[in-house]
Amino acid sequence: MKPKITITIDGWSSCGKSTLAKQLAKVLGYVYIDSGAMYRAITLYFLRNHIDWTDEKEVTEALNNISIEFHYNDVSQQSEIYLNGENVEYVIRDLVIAEKVSDVAAIESVRSFAVAQQQKLGMYKGIVMDGRDIGTTVFPDAELKIFMTADTAVRVERRFKELYAKNPNITIEEVKNNLEMRDYIDSNRKISPLRKAEDAIEIDNTNLSMEEQLRKAIDLAEKKLKRLA
Ligand code: C5P
Repeated sequence: MKPKITITIDGWSSCGKSTLAKQLAKVLGYVYIDSGAMYRAITLYFLRNHIDWTDEKEVTEALNNISIEFHYNDVSQQSEIYLNGENVEYVIRDLVIAEKVSDVAAIESVRSFAVAQQQKLGMYKGIVMDGRDIGTTVFPDAELKIFMTADTAVRVERRFKELYAKNPNITIEEVKNNLEMRDYIDSNRKISPLRKAEDAIEIDNTNLSMEEQLRKAIDLAEKKLKRLA
């Protein structure tokens, strides 16, 4: 059997991590897991159920009532997230969720809950997972760690286009503020702050096409796999 590796892709908000992770997983025949979707789904649950996330007890009780699963959708050809049996892949992308998710993701019990599931999902390798702490905390022994960056203006533009398609009332300032706020909270929180793992390889995709960044990632993965063969 061909050896399989674990690939982690971390980086700033809206760097194109998930686009690359999805494409790379497809090429390699690996599972793709969007760890940010888990934090977004938890945030959705908290908002819908009016959970006061500054109250530890309420958070613990709420987490006990949350079940998160990923299922592959043959039509969209991607794995989609389910919160207590409901497909929430699209609702969790709203700016309402993006405005709160970094606060929720900074809570210790929320992180332990999500990290335990992420580690379980990656138990058998053959996985590409993107997020903020995947190479540092979730899979510190991953064979390939990629850290993505891109100029803020480019990231804002990309995210704006994505959100504008769904909501034409959105402004570029709102998107920029949200991105900067999340980057700030994510890189300054106490537990597992966003940071490049020492052994991660950086890809700055400001001036790269999607094909070029995918090529780079495939080359990196192939090199690692060759060493294991
Ligand atoms: O990747 P995405 O932008 O969907 O992630 C949403 C938020 O979830 C991030 O801004 C961050 O606060 C949190 N997150 C995290 N750790 C991860 C993935 C996401 O804290 N591994």
